[in-house]
Amino acid sequence: MNVYDSQVAEGLLKKAGYEIQREHEDDGSVPEAASQKPQGSGAEDNGQRPDVILMNTCSVREHAEDRVYSRLGMLGKIKRTNPDLIVGLMGCMVEEHKEKLFKRFPQLDLMVGTRNIKELAGLIDEVRHTRRQVSRIKQDGLSIEYTELINRTSAFHAWLPIMTGCNKVCTFCVVPTTRGSEVSMPAREVYREASRLVSEGVKCITLLGQNVNSYGSEEMSKSPRTAPDAPVSGVRENIDVVAGPATGVSSWAPPPGVDPPIRTNSRVTRQDVNFPELLDMLCQIEGLERISFTTSHPHDATEALYRVIAKNLKISRRFHLPLQSGSDRILKRMKRLHTYQEYKEKIDLMRKLIPDVAITTDIIAGFSGETEEDFEATRRALEEIRYDSAFIYKYSVRPGTPAVKLEDDVPLAVKEERHQKLLQLQKKIMDRNNREWLGKTAAVFVEQASDRNPLHLIGRTSQDRKVVFEGGQHQVGTFARVTLTGLRHETFIGTLCES
Ligand code: SAH
Repeated sequence: MNVYDSQVAEGLLKKAGYEIQREHEDDGSVPEAASQKPQGSGAEDNGQRPDVILMNTCSVREHAEDRVYSRLGMLGKIKRTNPDLIVGLMGCMVEEHKEKLFKRFPQLDLMVGTRNIKELAGLIDEVRHTRRQVSRIKQDGLSIEYTELINRTSAFHAWLPIMTGCNKVCTFCVVPTTRGSEVSMPAREVYREASRLVSEGVKCITLLGQNVNSYGSEEMSKSPRTAPDAPVSGVRENIDVVAGPATGVSSWAPPPGVDPPIRTNSRVTRQDVNFPELLDMLCQIEGLERISFTTSHPHDATEALYRVIAKNLKISRRFHLPLQSGSDRILKRMKRLHTYQEYKEKIDLMRKLIPDVAITTDIIAGFSGETEEDFEATRRALEEIRYDSAFIYKYSVRPGTPAVKLEDDVPLAVKEERHQKLLQLQKKIMDRNNREWLGKTAAVFVEQASDRNPLHLIGRTSQDRKVVFEGGQHQVGTFARVTLTGLRHETFIGTLCES
């Protein structure tokens, strides 16, 4: 989501006359955008001395926040010699700490909430003219900005947020505090934006949300789905949708055979589409070749969703389903709403209905109260499920989360040891899984030619496995059938099949 928000911010600033320099931190948790002087006002500075430095921040783990603090410290020093530099923060840290950060960091000039990105250029001007600390943090409504000004980095792939916020209450997680309750973009808007992207040449779309698979459910709980025309009050009326004029898409109409997803009356728009239905709708868009989504909560991973994926080959065969822990005791302390067995049954059903699915997960090592026995349960879970990939994190307490009340009683050295053990185990599992793919042929979407060797094409299978193979430039942006012949780390080497 941060990458998407950064691309929106970049696009809007470009429109306002800024030159953009992008800088991403390695794990993507603190994407950073630095914008420069309006064009024509000091080209000799190009790439040297930005006028504005903006950090788009993440609060999910302490480590990500710490890096922003240390960067702010460095920027404070730079400002002593360059007092005109404007330093700004966007993203979840703004939502979490708000104006408190101005006191702690006098060098910070600007804070822009996730729902205020469209005001960015005006707010920078306000800082420039007043030299005061300026903030704009709107805390309700939808934090998605669909705009054709977005500064996409790929010709063929686009991120597409469909909902924000989370109604779950996982005790470790700061997302409900920073992103608020779930709000879904109306299906009609999602469909229109996806169509617009396709009209620009996009072929692969990743749907984004803090909990994509509960898309639309905030409406359904507020108003029964059996009364589609009743006036509805609540979130939908407050939605603040920013959509640029959709060039290339004259007026929205549902594809043949699909009912209009939104029913309107004179006062409000209401939503009557859940996540599997939304996926089904998007699959009807001609020219859209691959649809992925992230991230999902196990509670909302349903058979209906698996069935929609199974029948639509356009939907990616990679499913990210965070487990967090293999121990029921810890899952309960985390308020994950399921036992390990229940989760495992969901995985078994998914694999039965979508046999070629690759499943990935998130794991937290060293959550409050985690004993050696709980840790062993997580190890066993990794071995039993054999994920295709896993993000494994050391637990860090996040202010404002329910787990603040639980003791952070696993010593750091133990967290680190468990973290390492899980990483090593998962690496072995992944190597084993990957080797099973050798000799198989897969449909690979060719994303680009390699920078180093233009004869080498880089693409991804439907399971999101990266493949490098020899081919021709004309194949970029198309599908190729490729036999997987070798492995270099986690990248497959392939040979193009004769057609
Ligand atoms: N919506 C997702 C969570 C997104 S946050 C879900 O339902 O699971 C991405 C990942 O960061 C989480 O899955 C979790 O593994 C990790 N994470 C979240 N809070 C954390 C914390 N306080 N300490 C360590 N890891 C954390």
